[in-house]
Amino acid sequence: MKEAYLYERVKDETVRCLLCSHRCLIRSGDRGMCNVRENRAATLFTLVYDKIIARNADPIEKKPIYHFLPGTRSYSIATPGCNFKCTFCQNADISQMPSDLKEILGEPIPPEQIVQDALATGCATISYTYTEPTVYFELALDTAVLATSKGLKNVFVTNGYMTRECLERIHPHLHAANVDLKAFRDEFYKKQCRAKLGPVLESIQTMKEMGIWVEVTTLLIPGL
Ligand code: SF4
Repeated sequence: MKEAYLYERVKDETVRCLLCSHRCLIRSGDRGMCNVRENRAATLFTLVYDKIIARNADPIEKKPIYHFLPGTRSYSIATPGCNFKCTFCQNADISQMPSDLKEILGEPIPPEQIVQDALATGCATISYTYTEPTVYFELALDTAVLATSKGLKNVFVTNGYMTRECLERIHPHLHAANVDLKAFRDEFYKKQCRAKLGPVLESIQTMKEMGIWVEVTTLLIPGL
């Protein structure tokens, strides 16, 4: 198991995860809201570093990204887990697997292999997608650093709930992002996603300031 990259010890054996805007306080033996980060005796671990649940060489337009390297393919990966609880999630079988099934399935595919597979399939980018890349940050960051050194670009397809600290750590290696803006009402985020609108808007702004190419997806959800 790999130690988490962004957290702080608070008191006794409690830690605070600094990856996303939930900023979960996690007591020893417990997990954060995403259910893929566990505190073991005051050390926070990621449970998904070696749990790739999906990988495909997709057209980048499928991410969807339309104005960053159009016409190229993007090697797309995911692990289980998400920091949102959207009632309308289309990938709930993998995003909510740790919460719903109480298990975390996936293959151990290290960053070196991911980058090698991306190059071998003629991809120009690696996309961290399908679930929420923020919750598999350690795998995403290690892969992104290596990918950049091999001439690949990196793309996050994200709900935008990461902290500024998270973006500061990855941004030299994060070249583009598609942010899912699920609604423009805080009430919607609270009721349907168990999150808040404000941090998503802040991330979009921060990404732009950092020079990351940003495309925003807005959802049309029948009945909501
Ligand atoms: S990534 Fe977010 S939801 Fe998961 S433990 Fe950290 S702060 Fe909590």
